[in-house]
Amino acid sequence: MARTGQQYIEALRHNPPNLWYKGEKVEDPAAHPVFKGIVHSLAALYDMQHDPKHRDTLTYEEGGERYAMSLLPARSKADLSRRSAAYKLWADANLGMMGRCPDYLNAVLMAYEQSADFFGEFADNVRNYVRHVRENDLSTTHCLTNPQVNRAKSVTEQPDPYIPVGVVKQTAEGIVVRGARMLSTLPTADELLVFPSTLLKEGPGADKYAVAFAIPTNTPGLHFISRESMAVGESSYDHPLSSRLEEMDCLTVFDDVFVPWERIFILGDLQRCNNAYAETGALMHMAHQVVVLKNAKTEAFLGLVSLIGETIGADAFPHVQEKIAELIVYLEAMKGFWTRAEAEARPNKYGLYCPDRAALDGARNLYPRLYPRINEIVQQVSASGLITLPGEADFEGPVGPYLEKYLQSATLPARERVQLFRLAWDMTTSAFGARQTLYERFFFGDPVRMYQTLFSVYDKEPYKARIRAFLGWSEQPKEAVAGD
Ligand SMILES: Cc1cc2nc3c(=O)[nH]c(=O)nc-3n(C[C@H](O)[C@H](O)[C@H](O)COP(=O)(O)OP(=O)(O)OC[C@H]3O[C@@H](n4cnc5c(N)ncnc54)[C@H](O)[C@@H]3O)c2cc1C
Repeated sequence: MARTGQQYIEALRHNPPNLWYKGEKVEDPAAHPVFKGIVHSLAALYDMQHDPKHRDTLTYEEGGERYAMSLLPARSKADLSRRSAAYKLWADANLGMMGRCPDYLNAVLMAYEQSADFFGEFADNVRNYVRHVRENDLSTTHCLTNPQVNRAKSVTEQPDPYIPVGVVKQTAEGIVVRGARMLSTLPTADELLVFPSTLLKEGPGADKYAVAFAIPTNTPGLHFISRESMAVGESSYDHPLSSRLEEMDCLTVFDDVFVPWERIFILGDLQRCNNAYAETGALMHMAHQVVVLKNAKTEAFLGLVSLIGETIGADAFPHVQEKIAELIVYLEAMKGFWTRAEAEARPNKYGLYCPDRAALDGARNLYPRLYPRINEIVQQVSASGLITLPGEADFEGPVGPYLEKYLQSATLPARERVQLFRLAWDMTTSAFGARQTLYERFFFGDPVRMYQTLFSVYDKEPYKARIRAFLGWSEQPKEAVAGD
């Protein structure tokens, strides 16, 4: 059932993740100076589910109870629209800056549940697990990639067989796994999904690494080792994003972690691991949430740059107008991907409605390339306004009157003008902003291999045929030439 923010925080207090920060265990993330910002932001999203204004968008009713909309089974195009309206509402609440909004992985879980037969003998484990997540409205994070030790070698050729996560042994009760995964964002989730990567397809001999399962983030032997925080203060005036949305990223270590049978979804089956995302529709549903989130983010950038241009009078200049128009073009392209993905949705072989993959592939491959340019536009239009940023305390102190005078703008008093530019700083240029750029480049996978995948899955044949026809060529394939 849709839970409240307080219920999420209580659950976290009772079962805190095995989380490490600067050599110390984080006992209560909701009270910890580094983690409390994101915990309370996530709690606010859960609270929105109970706001009468948003309840019907963010939740659906079944059997007299309300559940998170992102777990609504997609059985029609109308269901997809309901799902994306919920994605958008949550995304807008944080200007599209929260990558591990719970709806992201809920989209994957819903697809797995509806295509559960794909998992063969583990199908009921998948169904039961997703039911558990739905009933308790859990948040999840995930980890896909192996530690970056030697990318030139396969998973079986690393210096230690248990650098990547592998199965050490099977018992009557379950399996024991050892190793690490490179990265989990949002360690303050309730659950960790350990799935195969969409891109890191493995070959023969890698069976012990072919495993998918889900465990609570406080499972014994599991450790989230966090990077340093990029939030440098708690004031939401001074640090509008990093004070609230520092999700944190962690190396994830499995020190002989026990996984009970009922939590296992794939075991020793390379083919299933390699095909899980695409065949179940999880890939399309994940990308559906992403295209909506990126629409929200692009809208936020357009609003930001428009206000900045207006407030310092820069939008009087044609080249600034051109840059803002460039952002409009990007936004309209992203909207186009989103609406086309829903308009051309089709059921997969399990009856799950999936948004169109080609449209989503376009969006998820283009955005990592657009995002650095979007940042650049903010910097080009903002110029030194992006760095002349005294803080809240300066306005209160003896130099306050100088700031009021010299940092006013054409349309705003100084405090609001500085607040706006502080947001621009945090969106693009602060450590938090720089991490957002890295995130956009990589979170869906290595962009190079994503393009390679697109090259191999995209049906180019109709377009080749048109050129052949235009040139008047025969449709017959070339006869083999002696010596070929
Ligand atoms: C901020 C951030 C948050 C993230 N959050 C999560 C998360 O929550 N969960 C999660 O699972 N992952 C997360 N990721 C990880 C993300 O999935 C990976 O960054 C992405 O899949 C690329 O893998 P990698 O970082 O290991 O890069 P690598 O694979 O190590 O690539 C490094 C370089 O080598 C090249 N390269 C490596 N192997 C090959 C190859 N076989 N062929 C061609 N080129 C190659 C790449 O193109 C790249 O230039 C996050 C990443 C970032 C940056």
